[in-house]
Amino acid sequence: MTMPISRSIQFFSFAVVALVSSGIHAAAIYPINDASILAGSKFDIKVELNSVVNQNDLQIKINGIPLSKFISAKSEFIPNENGKGSSIIFRDVQLSKAGKYTLTANAVQERLQVSWDVYASGPRRVKNIILFIGDGMTIANRTAARVFSKGIVEGKYQGKLSFDDMPNIALIGTSGSDSLITDSANSMSAYTTGHKSAVNAMGVYVSRAIDNLSHPKVETISELIKRNTKMSVGIVSDAELEDATPGAVVSHTRRRADKQYIADQLLASGAEVILGGGSAYFYPQSAKGSKRKDDKNLVEAFKSDGYQTVFTKQELWVASQDQNTKKLFGVFHPDNMDGSLDRLFLKKNTVAEFPNQPDLTEMTQSAINVLSKNPNGFFLMVEAALIDKFNHPLDWERAAFDTIMLSNAVQIAKDFAKTHPDTLIIVTPDHTQSGSIAGVINDTKPGPLREKVGIYAEAGYPNYPKAGLEGYPSQIDVSKRLAFFYGAYPDHYETLHPKLDGTFVPAVKGEGGTYVANPKYIQLQEDAIHVGGNIPSYQDTGVHTADDAVLSAIGPGSEKFHGFMDNTEVFKVMVQTLGLGQK
Ligand SMILES: [Zn+2]
Repeated sequence: MTMPISRSIQFFSFAVVALVSSGIHAAAIYPINDASILAGSKFDIKVELNSVVNQNDLQIKINGIPLSKFISAKSEFIPNENGKGSSIIFRDVQLSKAGKYTLTANAVQERLQVSWDVYASGPRRVKNIILFIGDGMTIANRTAARVFSKGIVEGKYQGKLSFDDMPNIALIGTSGSDSLITDSANSMSAYTTGHKSAVNAMGVYVSRAIDNLSHPKVETISELIKRNTKMSVGIVSDAELEDATPGAVVSHTRRRADKQYIADQLLASGAEVILGGGSAYFYPQSAKGSKRKDDKNLVEAFKSDGYQTVFTKQELWVASQDQNTKKLFGVFHPDNMDGSLDRLFLKKNTVAEFPNQPDLTEMTQSAINVLSKNPNGFFLMVEAALIDKFNHPLDWERAAFDTIMLSNAVQIAKDFAKTHPDTLIIVTPDHTQSGSIAGVINDTKPGPLREKVGIYAEAGYPNYPKAGLEGYPSQIDVSKRLAFFYGAYPDHYETLHPKLDGTFVPAVKGEGGTYVANPKYIQLQEDAIHVGGNIPSYQDTGVHTADDAVLSAIGPGSEKFHGFMDNTEVFKVMVQTLGLGQK
């Protein structure tokens, strides 16, 4: 039932293109054209005109039928929004029937039109879904982790990472509605809502509203689960729990920096298991180290909502073994937690200050222990956040160690699925970073530092010691090391050595808001090579890339992952496998 597009609309769409390219906010409808929408899911419709009109002069139709006859949602008309024109917003709309929908808005001189694909789900096919996010995990992170963890002899890896042998693999496109390059807010939001969003936004379309929380919202998978099922929800991250990836499971904001709001949403979500860092946003402003701007004590609120609360890995373990633990809240660090290279080997960064942080494997196991008590099943999101946090400062060894940690955490989920085969496990980055392995650095090669990079036949193989039981080699500063290079970087000194004294800080503030190579590294190592950045000088770390993300999956429904897919289709597979859409 697609409306025929008249000449005037075709003409108008040219006008929109012209406006966009000249940087003026053009008239718009949200959800945007070509959006896919789960039948029965809740979303807001917003129409933004370029002109100021009377509400009576604005006619909105779906498939030719006046919107008021189609939906019962109340509308809010804004006569002149921020001086940019009239807007109207309909909150909590639901379209229960699958099909093609065309929404048209006509107002005096403006005509707008978008089309949406509303899709149903079949019956529920799976009891549990465990979604692992390797934040910023690029293919070379995976390869480096496999070299470290399994070794390679005469061209053959001596083993696989836990997600290497999953039967289904897809390449995922991660771009947002506004930009080729995404951040974790809008890329995770695509997984959790099935809608595209813009950089720094989650659970909303970015409209011309000024207030971060009034943009048109789309429902998240955790909200759908809580509204439609008796399943449990778990959220685990080794970043701050208010960071973009865990935040996008429950929040609707234009700005991922609204961390106090996101902490409030975690409490409001009713998720049964919440484990990670970022305790600073759960305590009232009067508490030492608190980053809240009010007097709310969320830790006390979790307690009175029946959560067991834990703050060390020992307490986590005890609570997760307790048969009476039905809800579990744990925070183990005021900020992002420390990575496995530091916690288990080097004891650098903040490990001395916070020696009792659990590993991602311990958080994953604890979450599964608690969530699997629910006979109705569960949805668990586990984020290995630090892969991205270490890729940004070009610290590839730390990123590789946390990729090994992710592999160990995924193994726990695979072990659970052996006795609970009705579990779909998905392992995917939310977006990629720019790294590649180009050879092997050999300290015995003659000449200046750069000449020690062996390429092709001169690369040979690295000589890391065989990994221990947990998959980590005990030493990384060996004489033959991977030559891992990032493709997008600020000014920095290339040392070709692992940073054993703490995470690499490639660039520091220079003049006029620019960043320059951190002189610490040339002072420590006089043959370090100055590398001029290839991204703008205001950027102090490496950046995300548009390279496809590699998704791996196993379990019922995983066969739907194949070929190249859009990130919004990951949501579609999950909600269809869980049967969350109406027929
Ligand atoms: Zn990032």
